[in-house]
Amino acid sequence: MKVSCLCFLFLELAFYNLVVGTETQEGSNTRVIGGVALTGDKLTQTPFPQWLTDFTGMNQWPGLDPPYIPLSFIDMAKIPDHRAYRQGHCLRVSRAACSFDCHVCLRPDDVGTCGKLSQTFDDGPSRASLKLIDSLENRSTFFVLGINTVNHPEVYRELIKHDHLIGSHSWSHKFLPSLSNEEIIAQIEWSIWAMNATGGHYPKWFRPPYGGIDDRVRAITRQFGLQAVLWDHDSFDWSLISNRPIKSEEEIYSDVRDWKKAGTGLLLEHDGVERTVDVGINVNRIIGKDQLTVAECVGGIDYIRTFPID
Ligand SMILES: [Zn+2]
Repeated sequence: MKVSCLCFLFLELAFYNLVVGTETQEGSNTRVIGGVALTGDKLTQTPFPQWLTDFTGMNQWPGLDPPYIPLSFIDMAKIPDHRAYRQGHCLRVSRAACSFDCHVCLRPDDVGTCGKLSQTFDDGPSRASLKLIDSLENRSTFFVLGINTVNHPEVYRELIKHDHLIGSHSWSHKFLPSLSNEEIIAQIEWSIWAMNATGGHYPKWFRPPYGGIDDRVRAITRQFGLQAVLWDHDSFDWSLISNRPIKSEEEIYSDVRDWKKAGTGLLLEHDGVERTVDVGINVNRIIGKDQLTVAECVGGIDYIRTFPID
């Protein structure tokens, strides 16, 4: 199974107005370097809450490299010593590390399929998500980036209003197995704080960017109470906006029709840009509204906690 993804194209960097230089890596993927603060449109961003200032000493949302804030409930001794690896560099990755992206390895607490064929959407919330939310008649599952959540709180609130299930997709879409333990914790904690501040809830479900998860990453996400959600059907919608699409749009729909005949599975899709949202709407017409959220797939809860926000 190929589980790479160009999702960080979806970060809509142009809108972030980050006051740092950019560089191009590995083709045309633009990324911003440095742990600078997010200086997007403060008028429309989720306000940085006082409780988070009290806890972190910061007063604005971070950029793509969020700072590590130590947490008393995280026991570093519980994190196994599996070596870090870059995406696609699997030759030296031990089977014992149970990597999903390298070996399609799942642990018993991972969710990898569903009793009914069900769509899931990663990389939002974005302006394009609104069209999808308008179109869906069933509840669906959205795995959001923290950085997009605080930049599009109005879209996030639409997801809540339409009763969709929202899980975390990290703060800024890094390939987690390549990071240090502290950097992984930072990606998770800031994503949760973004959801706390924007939606008044603490997530239960976590989808690792690029499917990048091994037992070192799991040992961290489990300590946050999160359960990992992977997939067994990749729509390859993300490749439509790359230079070399893996599938044509028609091939995507043909796959979905085949999967619908089988009737089960979790389908990986994206709502970061309009192109993949349009595909998601068509896929929804093919599958129909008889779908489950990830929580319903396994009979689990939607959120660990919900609470009122100002
Ligand atoms: Zn993604």
